[in-house]
Amino acid sequence: MVALLKRLVPAVLGVLLACGAAAQSEPPECYGHHPYAEADPAELGSAGNYRDTGRTVRLLAPAAEAFQEMQKAAATQGVRLVPISGFRRRAYQAGLFRRAVERYGSEEAAARWVAPPGCSEHHTGRALDLGDETRPDCDVQLCFQKTPAYRWLQKNAERFGFELSFPAGSEPPAFEPWHWRYVGDPEGRRLFPRGRR
Ligand SMILES: [Zn+2]
Repeated sequence: MVALLKRLVPAVLGVLLACGAAAQSEPPECYGHHPYAEADPAELGSAGNYRDTGRTVRLLAPAAEAFQEMQKAAATQGVRLVPISGFRRRAYQAGLFRRAVERYGSEEAAARWVAPPGCSEHHTGRALDLGDETRPDCDVQLCFQKTPAYRWLQKNAERFGFELSFPAGSEPPAFEPWHWRYVGDPEGRRLFPRGRR
C-alpha cells in the first residue's frame, strides 16, 4: 500500500502541476480581438503628451520616432495630430474593460468597443490613438473621421508606417477612426498581418 502511494503521489502531483501551468499560459478570451504580449517598458520612447491630461504617450522607440516625423509632416500642411494613448499595461486595460462591461452589460458587448486585457494592440507599444488639435470634442469619438487630421492620415499615414487597425466594415471590433498601428518594420508586419483586425 505504501509502495503504491509512493508511486501515485508524484503522478498526481505531476498532473496538478501540469494543470496549473496550462491555466497560467492559457490565452485570454479576446472576443474577436487577438492576444498580444506586453512590450518591454525599457524599449519605449515618447510620442509626446496628451493635451488633456499632460500624460506622456509611450510607444516602441521606432514607432515613436515615426509618429514624430509624421506629426511634423502633417504640421507643414496645417494639420495638427494629437497623440492620445499609446502603450498600455494589461492592468490598465483591465480597468477600461471592467468599466465597459458595466456600461454595455456583458463582456461580449463591451469587446465591440474595448479590447479585453491581454487582447489590446496597445500592449505591443505599436498602437496609437490620435486626435485633431482643432477638435478636442472628437478625441476617441466617431466624429474624428470628419476632421482634417483623419483625412490627412488616410492619405499619408502609410508613408510613415501606420495603418488603421479597425476600418469601417466587417465588425466587431467596431470602426475606430482614431486607432492606428505601426507596421513600418518586419516585426510589425508579422504581428499585424495585412487586413487583420
Ligand atoms: Zn486605441
